[in-house]
Amino acid sequence: MPNYPTPLPFHTPSLILLLGPSGSGKTRLSKMFTPSQVLSADDFREMCADDRGDQRVSSAAWEALETVLRARLDLGLTTVVDATHAAEDQRRFFAGLANDYGVLSYAVVLSTPTDIAHARNAARTGTTRVPTHVVDDQAAQLRTASPKAEGIDRVVLAETLPALGTALLRLAAEEVRTADLADVRQIFGAGAAELFDWDTPSRDPQFRTGVFGAGGESLRVRWMDDADPFDIRFEALVPCVVDGCPGPAWTPVRSVAALAAAHQGNPLDDSECARCNS
Ligand SMILES: [Zn+2]
Repeated sequence: MPNYPTPLPFHTPSLILLLGPSGSGKTRLSKMFTPSQVLSADDFREMCADDRGDQRVSSAAWEALETVLRARLDLGLTTVVDATHAAEDQRRFFAGLANDYGVLSYAVVLSTPTDIAHARNAARTGTTRVPTHVVDDQAAQLRTASPKAEGIDRVVLAETLPALGTALLRLAAEEVRTADLADVRQIFGAGAAELFDWDTPSRDPQFRTGVFGAGGESLRVRWMDDADPFDIRFEALVPCVVDGCPGPAWTPVRSVAALAAAHQGNPLDDSECARCNS
């Protein structure tokens, strides 16, 4: 059994370039680093164009990426650039930049079989799927790369890295920090959990209570601690169906769609009023 955590073989600080064609698993590999350490060309394109694959904004995206990278190198922070790096002048540029800032540069080479890269690329949708020949072209270009001759200090083969173990340990540490929100995340997803706070202390001695909120709007929920774990655990506060009854009425919620409907006052499920029992 491997003895985790096996340390990653990178000097601190360093500039790490991932080298692999579209679909080779660069973004997966980058999950072993903290998200703020990873600068992805696709992320920057998405920030510029609401679209990860929109090549029209590539130059703006790269300019923004370089600005952030320089700021990080200035602070001596290890940074990963998640991009294909098929072009030699791009690799040389980053090698020179690392040198200017006095940090070690690494090329992490992914040697994912081309049929896997093709299959992953084919499974993508919209503009993030590139034409088949592009994957082949990138792979061919990368086969002729010689990172050391281009000024990159060290070359690491991706398959020698404890990538999954490191990523899982990092995610596990995050999970411990946010364990309080585990039930909210499990039922409604990570995005909804970012809108949620538990009441401390609970507003009801029988239930754990909390609130989804953003801006001036909120939706109050309660959690049935002792409910059958396979049954509905959350209920949301909604208006009573009887005109003039101030409630409170509660409706089961088991999805974000149910939260949205409850928030609009049109619950997907029946509600039950604690005051008038309707
Ligand atoms: Zn009522």
